[in-house]
Amino acid sequence: MSLPTYAEIKKVVDGMQIPTKAFIGGKFVSALSGKTIPSMSPITGEKLADFAACGKEDVDAAVKCAQKVFNSGVWSKMHPTERKKILLKYADLIEQHTVELGVLESMDSGKPVSDCITIDVPEGVHALRWHAEYADKNYGLFSPSGDSSVGMITKEAIGVVACIIPWNFPLMTTLWKLAPSLAEGNSIIIKPASNTTLSTLRLVEYATEAGLPEGVIQVITGSGSIVGEALGMHEGVGAISFTGSTEIGRKLLEYSSKSNLKKIVLELGGKSPMVILDDVKDLSNAVNNALFSSFWNSGQSCTANSRIFVPENRKEEFVELMVASLNETWKIGNPLNPEFNYGTLISEAHFKTVMAHMDQAIKEGHRMVCGGKALTIEKGLFIAPTIFVDPTPNSDLMKTELFGPITSVIGVKSNEEAIEKANDTEYGLQATIFTEDLRSAHKYARAIKAGTVSINRYCEGDITTPFGGLKMSGFGGQDNAAAAHDQYTEVKTIFIDLDA
Ligand code: NAD
Ligand code: MN
Repeated sequence: MSLPTYAEIKKVVDGMQIPTKAFIGGKFVSALSGKTIPSMSPITGEKLADFAACGKEDVDAAVKCAQKVFNSGVWSKMHPTERKKILLKYADLIEQHTVELGVLESMDSGKPVSDCITIDVPEGVHALRWHAEYADKNYGLFSPSGDSSVGMITKEAIGVVACIIPWNFPLMTTLWKLAPSLAEGNSIIIKPASNTTLSTLRLVEYATEAGLPEGVIQVITGSGSIVGEALGMHEGVGAISFTGSTEIGRKLLEYSSKSNLKKIVLELGGKSPMVILDDVKDLSNAVNNALFSSFWNSGQSCTANSRIFVPENRKEEFVELMVASLNETWKIGNPLNPEFNYGTLISEAHFKTVMAHMDQAIKEGHRMVCGGKALTIEKGLFIAPTIFVDPTPNSDLMKTELFGPITSVIGVKSNEEAIEKANDTEYGLQATIFTEDLRSAHKYARAIKAGTVSINRYCEGDITTPFGGLKMSGFGGQDNAAAAHDQYTEVKTIFIDLDA
């Protein structure tokens, strides 16, 4: 869709009704305790609203409601084709509100509104439609059990599913999880990150309008440590699909082991590599992708390629090209102005963490070729795109997910050395390889330990390919494609004796 002008967006901002209440039992409600948390704008530094700070008692109420709705069969036993129709209608309604949702997402997170309107909302809608269509296409199996029995391998909805969402792609991640879990007939409870509650709360307003029965979707806002833990420990929750940090992922496994052994699926952090093989003649495509991958969403992306391995004899050329193209690629400014494509960081706390890493890296004396500082643009939390060259192997620049606009270019003497170093990380989410040689593409894609390896373009695949991590980047399942539906179903064997 064509982008509205800044003047038009300002009008949308001025007229915006900010959602503040949790959505429990089909109604917008305050926390039972009456407590609230302020929602701060990363663009102006001002308070946007106070939203419901739910507690354990709100989680209890939501889980009870979700169980009741699930057991009633109003959604779980609805014909899959009917569920599909409702979800497709839901997708249409969301699409019709693209600008409103995109603006809300940008106000809340500091992401460029241009991205929110042209990427986040459309991709989310696309995911919803894809999974809606799959509702009546997810077949079971027959087992090769011989003539005297029939073994049917079926898939059933789990029941109450909680989706815990990070703040970096709030609306899109919500739709990635909401779509397959609902398509399979579950009752779901969404826990948005406390920095980004707004688009999720607006999203569910359209659920009722689309015909989703009351209580099939609920949203509980509040602090992660309170609401997240209460969901994790709850005996009535059958599964949790989580996207977030490795640290909280570990906690969820603990909650599960201490409670009802609920199924846990974890999409976690990364320190993803980009590898430019030694056969690449024209570096421009790799340079553009390096800039995009490192600095898109101000580097707050779980697959950001923050370790870029380049043949030693091309390194200076690569770095020069990156620095020269930087200002053309990234237009930095108020993210609500659609002319800009590089916005703020998410929050003051995160801004301080990233700047502390930056200051540490500078103090350690690694070579820095651009950036290295915060930018004063109005009152926003901006950090300049920053490139380091050849940081030492054990530095934070090489080991730690910084989740900010900081990337490193590292010279290597051979393709083998590049792959070995690319794999020298505890993570394994995504990797990008550039090559002009078909054999190298296959050979080195196999050699890299990552859930997704993309060749000649930085990407995470698309809705038709599973997305998840290896090593400490993930556990228990994937988002997207048919694989996502496995997160929200359980396998049941039905075995019939034909001889008795
Ligand atoms: P986070 O782990 O701090 O928070 C994620 C969610 O967990 C939030 O909703 C938060 O409120 C909740 N939470 C916090 N404490 C909790 C607790 N004790 N129990 C249960 N839930 C709790 O992560 P973040 O800062 O929101 O997101 C950044 C991280 O997410 C990065 O590490 C990034 O790599 C990762 N990420 C991964 C993917 C992926 O698909 N692999 C995608 C996006 C982000
Ligand atoms: Mn916010």
